[in-house]
Amino acid sequence: LNQYSHSHRHYGEAMLTVEDALARILNFFHVLEPECKPILETLGQVLAEDVVSVQDIPSMANSAMDGYAIQAESVKAASHVIGYVSAGDSPKVNVSPGTAVRIMTGAPLPMGADSVVPFEDTDELIRRETNQDMSKISVKLKVDRGSDVRPAGQDIKNGQLVLKKGTILRPYEIGVLASLGHAQIKVIRRPIVAILSTGNELMEPGDPYDSSKIYNSNGFSVAAAVIRYGGLPKSIGIARDNLDSMEAMLCKGLESDILITSAGVSNGDYDMVKDVLSSHGNIDFWSVKMRPAKPLAFGVLRNHCETPVPVLGLPGNPVSAIVAFEQFARPALFKMMGKTKYSKPTIRAILEDPIYNTDNRRVYARVIVEKKNEVYHARLTGHQGSNLLTSMANANGLAICPEDQPIKKAGEFAEVQMLDWPEEVF
Ligand code: AMP
Ligand code: MG
Repeated sequence: LNQYSHSHRHYGEAMLTVEDALARILNFFHVLEPECKPILETLGQVLAEDVVSVQDIPSMANSAMDGYAIQAESVKAASHVIGYVSAGDSPKVNVSPGTAVRIMTGAPLPMGADSVVPFEDTDELIRRETNQDMSKISVKLKVDRGSDVRPAGQDIKNGQLVLKKGTILRPYEIGVLASLGHAQIKVIRRPIVAILSTGNELMEPGDPYDSSKIYNSNGFSVAAAVIRYGGLPKSIGIARDNLDSMEAMLCKGLESDILITSAGVSNGDYDMVKDVLSSHGNIDFWSVKMRPAKPLAFGVLRNHCETPVPVLGLPGNPVSAIVAFEQFARPALFKMMGKTKYSKPTIRAILEDPIYNTDNRRVYARVIVEKKNEVYHARLTGHQGSNLLTSMANANGLAICPEDQPIKKAGEFAEVQMLDWPEEVF
């Protein structure tokens, strides 16, 4: 009778709230060390040094318009056009009272000039159309001294602290770094995340269809989430539900900052991820008071030659795996990356469907959030089974029914974690 049944070892399963589980996990992680990277590879990473400018930007006074560089005081009479300067040139002539230099946007202001008059405020067009002398130019309006001149250091001053250590690099900061001339910059390095899927039933996308098996989706949703949140996924494949396979595969996950496994952490006959993890490390098995994603494993894998690696064992059901990733793995990655905000941005939305909580667990219901008359509304994506991955694919939020509330009724406000909003929003 028992030949198929794995010896059921019993692991003390602590019942934990989501907050307790998260706190215990975060406690394990530290900010990773900094490294120098080409600026374009640092999008979303945290700056590991203060950036101080060693130059003025702009480096010299230059023109904000295409027009004429002049002295504001001397525009009553027509000015002699004595030269031309475009962006990237150095002016070869100086402006004196009664003279003008034709100047293009971004070109350095010639010595002596204090203002720029745009073409449209001069008689240049009329002169050209009526075949007049183009060596002279008249200004049609009064010119304020300094107008259309961008002074040196207007954006950034030499010696100025431009970007603080701890800043998350967005395209705008990367632009600023480029404008300061930095090709490389010091950032907290990206965590390497080893990803291991487990199960005899799994085959890889691309394998020929077999109705008795299922394609490995967890390996891919988790790897994609790792990329999305700034980590470097290292997929180590599929371990089968036997000790040899699992031990061999676990070894491949040891050169990483965290190993994430999926499945095999509940109480089925073949759930031997538990046994293997237990015999190779200090691993806790938790029942987290949440739905989906109740079973969760967390701890460190020890190996005599390598440094211990934290392991997060996600549940196998595809929705559970990714919801648990969002709640527990994402914050761990962020902490390693030097970020200080870990929580998903949340909003309050009016529920259009009820959310039931039958067993004192916090429910994360997959919803579609829409704004109607300036108020957010959330409706379920359909059946909420943790095996139904399209319930996640169709969602843009996770609406929460608290563990101590048996129901969130339609019409009530619920807190909703927005799946696609960046953490920096709130
Ligand atoms: P388990 O925890 O091993 O009992 O797995 C729970 C459920 O998740 C089972 O229906 C598995 O077939 C499914 N499952 C496990 N791993 C994966 C995976 N990598 N991709 C998709 N489904 C999975
Ligand atoms: Mg399994």
